[in-house]
Amino acid sequence: MTTNHELFQRALARIPGGVNSPVRAFKSVGGEPFFTARADGACLWDVEGTRYIDYVGSWGPMVVGHNHPHVREAVARAIQDGLSFGTPCPAEVTMAETIAKLVPSVEVVRMVNSGTEATMSAIRLARGFTGRTRIVKFEGCYHGHGDAFLVKAGSGALTLGVPTSPGVPKALADLTLTLPYNDLAAARKLFSEVGDEIAALIIEPVAGNMNCILPRDGYLAGLRELCTQHGALLIFDEVMTGFRVALGGAQALYGVKPDLSTFGKIIGGGMPVGAYGGRRDIMQMVAPAGPVYQAGTLSGNPVAMAAGLAMLELIQTPNFYDELDRRTRLLTDTLSAAALEAGVPFSVNRVCGMFGLFFTAQNVETYAQATACDVAMFNRFFHGMLKRGVYLAPSAFEAGFVSIAHTDQVIADTLAAARAAFAEAAQR
Ligand code: PMP
Repeated sequence: MTTNHELFQRALARIPGGVNSPVRAFKSVGGEPFFTARADGACLWDVEGTRYIDYVGSWGPMVVGHNHPHVREAVARAIQDGLSFGTPCPAEVTMAETIAKLVPSVEVVRMVNSGTEATMSAIRLARGFTGRTRIVKFEGCYHGHGDAFLVKAGSGALTLGVPTSPGVPKALADLTLTLPYNDLAAARKLFSEVGDEIAALIIEPVAGNMNCILPRDGYLAGLRELCTQHGALLIFDEVMTGFRVALGGAQALYGVKPDLSTFGKIIGGGMPVGAYGGRRDIMQMVAPAGPVYQAGTLSGNPVAMAAGLAMLELIQTPNFYDELDRRTRLLTDTLSAAALEAGVPFSVNRVCGMFGLFFTAQNVETYAQATACDVAMFNRFFHGMLKRGVYLAPSAFEAGFVSIAHTDQVIADTLAAARAAFAEAAQR
């Protein structure tokens, strides 16, 4: 039998860090990743046959559980007709119509192949449309690995951005301004000083890449107002929240209409898919309708569209989101009670199928609070859960995901593991 360890040794020899995306490597929690052989429903099985209840869900896409027959069969049907055409195909049209129907602000949409492509394309479009160059992002938000986003704040929001990765030119980082999330006063101050230079403000409307942080009441509406006042575009990065926190995404849940939105994850049903879309007058600037260039050999791929459309059918089932919400609430409420019993300082954020676990007694609303949590205790909890067959995201700064395949029994099994893992984590 091949073991996880053997595979990781082979991987380390031929793949940077042994993985094709960094967080998979378990660097922040320590230890070595397992290699998944198959996935079904709420669970993953590694190459050694160990089963894990999975709260990562491929980092978000698997909202109906792994290997759902409706999605699998749609893909199986699609591949009968070929894998890629390089011409338009009917499923792309249905996909665009479906997104426009489900997401309030989207009139016109372009398919791409990842969340990163979607956000990179959206800011190019915003710059092309406004004729401005600066963009604003938030500390702790992640928008993929485009150069413009791998930037952190200098010593004050108004100082020029600093690259967070070698290879990102300083000159490009200068154009990205970074603000603290959930601080409307800071955003107002920045816009009052350079608002007329800002092409776009991009935000995760619920932040899912600094653990899980919800927008304060009125925060998103306040940002909307600022952008409108100053002629900057508001971009909601709904790669994670889209079709997750509500059928129409965070913009439907919070009733705030962005100019552009970006999507990924759920929209592809597990295939490599992203999209960006929004106001017709802005989207008509995209080539070939307009002068802002953006293209993709595999964009709108027929197999990926089939998977995505099958997923979008499933999530339109009546009460889907009520049920997802109930299960996530059950999970987080029972985990909170177990932490309390174990005497572990613990708090939770939750919105529909998305949650964050924090090893602190405080309610967490900011990046500074999220980063002040007890990471060492999270790491002990993570390993305590893993050895009891529950897989959480291998970092204290990632959101967790519940799927509709996480039944009450699966959640009860999770809780049993958590009781023991909390008790263990509490011991230093
Ligand atoms: N935006 C957000 C909010 C994300 O969470 C992610 C990925 N986690 C991305 C963009 C990038 O998507 P991808 O990994 O598909 O490039």
